Amino acid sequence: MPPIDPVSLTADLIRCPSVTPEEGGALQLLDELLTQAGFACTRVDRGGIANLFARWGDKGHARTFGFNGHTDVVPLGDEAAWTMPPFGAEIKEGVMYGRGATDMKSGVAAFAAAAIDFVTNTPPDGAVILTITGDEEGDAIDGTTALLDHLETAGEAMDVCLVGEPTCPNTMGEMIKIGRRGSMTAWFTVTGKQGHSAYPHRANNPLNAMARLMDRLASHELDQGTEHFDASTLAVVTIDTGNPATNVIPAQSRATVNIRFNDSHSGASLSAWLQEEVDRVTTEFGVSVDLTIKISGESFITPPGALSDLVATAVEAETGLKPELSTTGGTSDARFVKHHCPVVEFGLVGKTMHQVDECVPIAQITQLKSIYTRILKDYFA
Ligand SMILES: [Zn+2]
Repeated sequence: MPPIDPVSLTADLIRCPSVTPEEGGALQLLDELLTQAGFACTRVDRGGIANLFARWGDKGHARTFGFNGHTDVVPLGDEAAWTMPPFGAEIKEGVMYGRGATDMKSGVAAFAAAAIDFVTNTPPDGAVILTITGDEEGDAIDGTTALLDHLETAGEAMDVCLVGEPTCPNTMGEMIKIGRRGSMTAWFTVTGKQGHSAYPHRANNPLNAMARLMDRLASHELDQGTEHFDASTLAVVTIDTGNPATNVIPAQSRATVNIRFNDSHSGASLSAWLQEEVDRVTTEFGVSVDLTIKISGESFITPPGALSDLVATAVEAETGLKPELSTTGGTSDARFVKHHCPVVEFGLVGKTMHQVDECVPIAQITQLKSIYTRILKDYFA
């Protein structure tokens, strides 16, 4: 099999319009390519979502390296604002344009190309597994989770896993993610008693309670950060009352709060704290407060060790930069993989993720393939 060019593979993937939950031909294309290269491929579709599991080498081998990524992309947004065709993969001055160019069709192309060439040229004493989902940008209920369920039921296992999401803020090679903060959202509805604003004693203004509650939450220091994590943060993202009258005290006010938390908290401990604060204003102000909480993900970490060393060494050898081991940023599918095996994330510069005219310098795609190739060589050496 001739070497796989990760740049043209990225272009082929960009030309598949795979806005979540559409498969768009992207996984089909990878399925055919990987099957041709000797990978055993299984489509793990669930709940209208397409996912691809591919393994080269024996099932249950003692040394199995895993990659994880996604081929689905976010919608175009303001389509008229794009100056390049969003599914065209056109190259201008060494930069390829299109939805998914950085997040993360280039990452998938780079690890698929690296894996294929590696097993073709230097067949390892071990196995390589690729888990590629079509549902990372959506609800992620039937995506990587479905693939991990498949691993379990089929008796498959990855010993370690590298997620190929973009991880570098500005320069290729500067950052590896070894964990992420947790994320949760809380919705508050405070109900008092409507009345005339000239006679506030005959009403019970829910805004007084809401203002106190939001101030207490926003001014509370959750922590000062931990060994591998920044401090946890809480943001009041909206307070809505929608009262157009100047002479009416409203009956109800709503607010939403988003919390990003480190390993000194859990979704449960923070939920308990929010409930305590709610109970406090309920008592103080005589209002009723409805609280709804959604925990999107707990914080997680693969502590610095063999896997992060392996990846950092390869990154430094190929880029000359010593990458920082970071836990910053939003959530990713690594939060599911961490239940299965040690996981870290490394990919290219993610500056234009989800933007109009998303783009990637093609040299970065080639470099990313070289880094992934070196990681495979070092892992099986
Ligand atoms: Zn992504």
